[in-house]
Amino acid sequence: MSDPVSIPAPSAPSDFIRDIVRDDLASGRHQRVVTRFPPEPNGYLHIGHAKSICLNFGIALENQGVCHLRMDDTNPTKEDVEYVDSIIADVRWLIEGWADGILGLKPKGMGPEAAPDEVDFRLSATATHLGQPMEPFYASDYFDALYGFARQLIRLGRAYVCDLTPEETEQYRGSPDRPGRNSPYRNRTVEENLALFEKMKEGRFPDSACTLRARIDMESPNIWMRDPVIYRIRHADHHHTGNRWCIYPMYDFAHCLSDYIEGITHSICTLEFEVHRPLYDWILESLQLPRSLPHQFEFARLNLGYTVMSKRKLLQLVQGGLVSGWDDPRLPTISGLRRRGVPASALRAFAHEIGVTKYNGLTDLSVFEFAVRRELNRVAVRRMGVLRPLRLVLTNIAEGEVHWFDAVNNPEDPSAGTRKIPFSRHIFIEQEDFQENPPPKYFRLRPGGDVRLKYACIIRCDEVIKNDVGEVVEIRCTADLESHSGGANAARKVKGTIHWVSAGHSIAATVRLYDRLFTVAEPDKEEGDFRQYLNPESLQELEAQLEPSLAEAVGETRFQLERIGYFVRDSRETDSNRPVFNRTITLKDGWAKESARPG
Ligand code: ATP
Ligand code: MG
Repeated sequence: MSDPVSIPAPSAPSDFIRDIVRDDLASGRHQRVVTRFPPEPNGYLHIGHAKSICLNFGIALENQGVCHLRMDDTNPTKEDVEYVDSIIADVRWLIEGWADGILGLKPKGMGPEAAPDEVDFRLSATATHLGQPMEPFYASDYFDALYGFARQLIRLGRAYVCDLTPEETEQYRGSPDRPGRNSPYRNRTVEENLALFEKMKEGRFPDSACTLRARIDMESPNIWMRDPVIYRIRHADHHHTGNRWCIYPMYDFAHCLSDYIEGITHSICTLEFEVHRPLYDWILESLQLPRSLPHQFEFARLNLGYTVMSKRKLLQLVQGGLVSGWDDPRLPTISGLRRRGVPASALRAFAHEIGVTKYNGLTDLSVFEFAVRRELNRVAVRRMGVLRPLRLVLTNIAEGEVHWFDAVNNPEDPSAGTRKIPFSRHIFIEQEDFQENPPPKYFRLRPGGDVRLKYACIIRCDEVIKNDVGEVVEIRCTADLESHSGGANAARKVKGTIHWVSAGHSIAATVRLYDRLFTVAEPDKEEGDFRQYLNPESLQELEAQLEPSLAEAVGETRFQLERIGYFVRDSRETDSNRPVFNRTITLKDGWAKESARPG
């Protein structure tokens, strides 16, 4: 079953970025909005990226625009095609059925053929072509164009080749409260700079021997404006351009120009780039470009409690074997959340609800969990399963005798219908639903007591049989078969209702229960290494018994085990003899109870 589509909210979202976009369209500053989502392919996407994806695709969708998926791949040493592929898959999954019509991909192999100094093409116009292989945009497809732009800056006297070592460059830069000093190479002639830059490109210098720097202002209060490096030498293969290049543009140089090349109108990024904006504008304005320029707007990144989001830290968890991979269901990665059973629509609803602001804060995990529960409550079919089985014998039912009862598939959705579930002499109930010496107000099964088995009938516990060492080995009960709905005793009332499965019909399955990955809300703000705050009990594996219809649960079909939580079949464990199910989330917030407890 594919993910049901739910367009987050009936109201059109409103925030300061959307206001700007609306004004720009109303004033005729732009005819059509073009946004982009520009991940660096150095890791898997996480829920913070989902916020950015929903914002960029959402704005394009609401304004009949387009959003480009661009690999921001200017750093050859950390990037990989595995990450490119995972990013494409995750973005597709997240926007499928919602904004897939505007997913900005381009016909495969189409790069900027135009001469760098007169770049004037709109790849986005072709972005929705059908019927040919499509691929994302790659910043590395613009390396020729970017090289041309760098030469242009040199010709304008606005860039120079600098031979300072990395350490010297650092020293010359100064600090926020101390102005920097001019590099001794700052006044090289245009001809000399062009020749040296050419040699850099030809591979005549080793790594770090020299850099190309923008010639701006070493005394600027903004440290990013103190003659930033815009090209560096790296003799390294690149996942997309192979060994064609040994010089690579720096992020600040590549990003604004990639935006310009693609005709991006609104370049939306997180707040830490605010201090880079003067440089973004300086580069574009210095080049005297013919077309209208993109503008950068910043919003607060998503920070979520009890997890880590930085790709560097996620990589440490993956490489250290502390989780089972990038798609470990405990991770906040999109692939992990998907494997855990979170619907894409719940992620989008969450992104919509947290909104877009200028203030960094920590979003409580319960806000996310609320969105997941609400969505799953709407779509998930109800099933029964017992996580820690305890065997009961119903002595007034003969061996081989089977009764079939009707069970409702989803009380939230009458169209989901009903199903028949088998009931027989041997059943399993949850261990914790039986107590020999229960506390007051215990309404489940106890010696001499009655309880209702959901969808079936009332049973009474007659006898508890123990072995020599006092362990319960069998619980003998009688069933009041007339107490099922429609029976002569249907009106009988008991205080407790519990779930169960028929032992002769149920399937054995491994069930994985997850808890928060960390024991503290902000593991990266605690003392010492963040990994020491991993929750040792974040994964629990149980051998459960589930109702027979779950043998057919496949793909992303989500179901609720009544009273236990929402589940999905694990997408990695595909041995059909031994199905594995992941609990996406419990029915209620167990942590809320925990913290409400006194002490
Ligand atoms: P990280 O710091 O988590 O490793 P990043 O910022 O290096 O991530 P990029 O691949 O550069 O990751 O991010 C792609 C886009 O996603 C950028 O526009 C970035 O601003 C945005 N983004 C990254 N993290 C978040 C977040 N936590 N919340 C919202 N947007 C984010
Ligand atoms: Mg980044």
